[in-house]
Amino acid sequence: MDIRNCSPAIISGLITQLQDAVYVLTDHKVIYANAKMAALLGTTVEALEGQLLLNFVDDQSLATVEDRYRRRVQGETVPNQYEIAMRTASGQKKWVVNHVDTFTDERGALVVIGSMKDITEVNSVKHDLDVFRKQHEERLFRDANFDSLTGLANRLNLINHLTMAKKHQDGLCLILIGFTGLREINDSVGYDIGDRVIVAVARRLLTIVDDAEFLARVAGVQFAVVVSSQCEERLHELIGEVSGLFKRPFVTQFGKFYLNPNLGISLHPGDAVDEITLLSHAHAALSHAKSADTINWIFYDEQLNKDLHARIQMLANLREAIQREQFELFYQPQITTGESKFVGAEALIRWKSPELGYVTPGQFLAYAESTDLIIPIGDWVITQACKQAKALLDLGYEDFSIGINLSAKQFASGDLVQTLKTTLSLLKLPARFVDIEVTESTFLDMGEEVSNQLKELSALGLSLSIDDFGTGYSSLSYLQSMTFNILKIDQSFISRLPGSESDLNLVKAIVNMSKALHLEIIAEGVETEQQLLLMKDLGCDIVQGYYISRPMPAEEFLLWLERNVQPKT
Ligand code: C2E
Ligand code: MG
Ligand code: MG
Repeated sequence: MDIRNCSPAIISGLITQLQDAVYVLTDHKVIYANAKMAALLGTTVEALEGQLLLNFVDDQSLATVEDRYRRRVQGETVPNQYEIAMRTASGQKKWVVNHVDTFTDERGALVVIGSMKDITEVNSVKHDLDVFRKQHEERLFRDANFDSLTGLANRLNLINHLTMAKKHQDGLCLILIGFTGLREINDSVGYDIGDRVIVAVARRLLTIVDDAEFLARVAGVQFAVVVSSQCEERLHELIGEVSGLFKRPFVTQFGKFYLNPNLGISLHPGDAVDEITLLSHAHAALSHAKSADTINWIFYDEQLNKDLHARIQMLANLREAIQREQFELFYQPQITTGESKFVGAEALIRWKSPELGYVTPGQFLAYAESTDLIIPIGDWVITQACKQAKALLDLGYEDFSIGINLSAKQFASGDLVQTLKTTLSLLKLPARFVDIEVTESTFLDMGEEVSNQLKELSALGLSLSIDDFGTGYSSLSYLQSMTFNILKIDQSFISRLPGSESDLNLVKAIVNMSKALHLEIIAEGVETEQQLLLMKDLGCDIVQGYYISRPMPAEEFLLWLERNVQPKT
């Protein structure tokens, strides 16, 4: 089959049928164009004839067209199809796919045959998609690298910044700034206000961070500043400025709130080479800064990390101990100095660790008290000790009380009085069989909150002891105003007797004062017969200590009672 067999009329009809715009050029000029081609360029077939097609090529694509034409004429193989921009007669820009071929006609002239497909619309959709994709990518980048609440760099961004900065700077200093007080705001007036306070914190911090420094929000109300460690002065200036910034309260519609900043600082490369460790060291330092009494900023040192790990481990172990009920109460009897009569016992907690055996409160209680773990532990002690008191009562013992030690946090929980009330009533245990021991510092640190609860407990009929007397503030005025029944002289005074004259005078003074205030006295830590006799001579009513018995597990305590006390019934 050969198209040359077709008449010119047929060929002309065929070309008219084509969907594409078709053109033929010699010497760049149009010698033929179909109606579609004319329509594409916004003109007529007649007007097109003899025109340079290049006149309709948009400036943007002119170089492309000329370059391809030149290479094709030189015999290079160039792709037949490419995208170019055209301009219509009225100046409208159109994107087309241009398909070109060249050949030499029978007279030896170079002829260009081409067709064009209008892809303006396709391109505009593509363009919209590109814009959308770009915006989407930008949004993803923003979400991944910036904090949506404050607009500051986030943790990931901080890590990336540290990675870059450590390549360009000789020494870096990472300051992690945490705040106490936000939880109270969230709890009392809601997260919305809490969020606004966080934004306000970010704004305040921005005012003290220089352009060359880096500020990020790492988590909650925790921010990080990266500065050069070369300038120690700047570092100290920043520490001072942070403290100064938060002396002012945050004013909200619900009132004024204060946040207290704490700073944990770690240095690159001294403390850590990689950025994740650097950050975790700053965290360790921050935790210590939070628990420090006198200073609110701490530089990382290796010991801190060990302490922190020990603390985390201990808290995890204690949580498990609560779940598995690994605690036990030991009982240490108290007897009168006159007739060696049993008058009570103090309940002392032990943690029966599967790995460590019996662990004394000195080794774990402070950890529990630094968190809310002391609440479930304290509740367990209350129940257990009251059950023991009830058991003694059922066995026929009388005139005794079981002493329960309470921590300051238990008073702060607000449920203490109710817990004791419920426990007593469930066990049908009269309140006088329970004695509550609080230290002077618990009582004095917490002020009215504790004294009000103690008054309620006293009104219920519980006896109240002031524990470790002499080691705390020893402010005596509260003894008069409060309803304490018993004063326990701290064992440190007894342990130096009878040798130390000053301790002897002190114990004498305490005993006399207690008598004047109608308080019973218990001397703690009596280890020898000599000390017991001395206490008796001084007029101290009751003693407790290794000389009488070490603290014992419940079963052993019952055996001790059997040997030493005759139940009334
Ligand atoms: P504490 O209330 O002053 O208890 C007396 C401490 O002195 C007990 O130490 C006891 O074993 C010890 N001790 C008794 N007699 C002697 C003695 O003759 N010589 C010497 N050197 N020590 C003696 P423990 O059991 O290690 O308890 C330490 C502290 O832990 C207690 O001091 C108390 O403050 C606290 N604690 C114990 N159990 C509990 C509890 O269930 N809850 C709370 N919140 N604190 C508790
Ligand atoms: Mg005690
Ligand atoms: Mg004590």
